Amino acid sequence: MPEHVNSQLRAIPAVQTIQRAIGDRLPVARVWLDQAIRDELEHIRQAVLQGEPVPPFERILAAVETRARRYAVPHLRPVLNATGVMIHTNLGRSPLPPALMDHVAAVATQYSTLEYRLSEGQRGSRHEHVEELLTWLVGTEAAMVVNNNAAAVLLALSTLAEGREVVVSRGELVEIGGSFRVPEVMALSGARLREVGATNKTHLRDYMAAIQDNTALLLKVHQSNFRMMGFVASVELADLVRLGRQTGIPVMADLGSGVLRPLRIGDYEEPDVPTVVQTGVDVTTFSGDKLLGGPQAGIVVGRRDIIQRMKKHPLARAVRVDKMTLAALEMVLRWYAEGRGHELPLWQMIEAGPEAIRQRAETFMDHLRQHLPAEVRVELEEAWSEIGGGSMPGTRLPTYLVTLAGSEPRDVVEWERRLRESDPPVIVRVSHGKILVDLRTIFPQQKLTLQTAIVRAITGEVEGGSR
Ligand SMILES: *Cc1c(COP(=O)(O)O)cnc(C)c1O
Repeated sequence: MPEHVNSQLRAIPAVQTIQRAIGDRLPVARVWLDQAIRDELEHIRQAVLQGEPVPPFERILAAVETRARRYAVPHLRPVLNATGVMIHTNLGRSPLPPALMDHVAAVATQYSTLEYRLSEGQRGSRHEHVEELLTWLVGTEAAMVVNNNAAAVLLALSTLAEGREVVVSRGELVEIGGSFRVPEVMALSGARLREVGATNKTHLRDYMAAIQDNTALLLKVHQSNFRMMGFVASVELADLVRLGRQTGIPVMADLGSGVLRPLRIGDYEEPDVPTVVQTGVDVTTFSGDKLLGGPQAGIVVGRRDIIQRMKKHPLARAVRVDKMTLAALEMVLRWYAEGRGHELPLWQMIEAGPEAIRQRAETFMDHLRQHLPAEVRVELEEAWSEIGGGSMPGTRLPTYLVTLAGSEPRDVVEWERRLRESDPPVIVRVSHGKILVDLRTIFPQQKLTLQTAIVRAITGEVEGGSR
């Protein structure tokens, strides 16, 4: 090793030297500071081995402090979503109403009726808390809730069709982001996939021809995250249900999103659960945190005998829902029952009209202009917000964006990074050399925080990442 590298390695300060220099002036637990020192020194060692000099002591201290503060912040934490994507898969899908969270906290931090029947003083079931609400809201005999909709589909297939065949249209063998693919979930459940029709067209006669002694289920999967156009045909659920009746084979619908009332945006109509149930379908599954606007959950509604078997299946225990989720879901469903569904944050965002958003955006733009240097161009732009979360594909809501651009294209890259690293982090879209801010997904109480974060990110008043 060259001598200058050796001498630089010897010049790296010792852990204790840095510990003493920082003392206890950092408001973080000791473990994060120690880890930060170790990691920063290792980082410097690697740089020195590449021929770099050891940075000045003050610079090392500053780097350690930044690291330690970063380590002390929870990894899973709130962000400001300025993308306008309402069910943002990467940002936690549907936000819950703060008004429900006192109740959730009470259930979580105290003992509860989770599996206890007060009326009898005996063991109860966690399924009881929301079953009546759900059956009342959607019109089925029975209901149960599991960890998420993927688990609901898996449990339903395992219960109804293990070792037997499930008939599905080739146009519905969908992938819902990452690892949920209908053929793979089918394989995992032990059911055998019987594909019928072609990618673009499936007819009732295709299903009829596929049915034999070993057919356990006719499955319809909602094309929740894509749309097919042109020469296409699929079988209506009602026709499939009629075929199921004639042949004595149960019919299941996996809806993905689950709206409780009819929802039409532009020319796109999302099938709502009560209407789907009215076709006479035997089992329906949907998510709790897509268009329902609740917590992550998989909801199964349908025939009593089928749901009874699902509750008793060994897999039910493996995919069971947690008490905090159940507490939140019960409250969300109660809001729907009370006619307060539109007060859920998701519905407030979906139903915010372009005029209301334009007003918010104009006020916000004025405030930003007052605080930003004149060379930053702050403008209003007509655009679209997306529902997201693989819900209502191709559906967009008219919106107004506040856009930000600098004198150099690379300004925007730097601003976006600083916004992401600010506290709380701000997530924005960048397009055509501009930062795009959609206030649709910013809650009223976040507006000032957003304004401050943007001003800081652009003027560089305070380094990003520190509190
Ligand atoms: C989203 C979706 C799922 C998976 O639901 P999760 O709640 O994400 O587990 C399954 N099927 C369809 C059709 C979906 O849209």
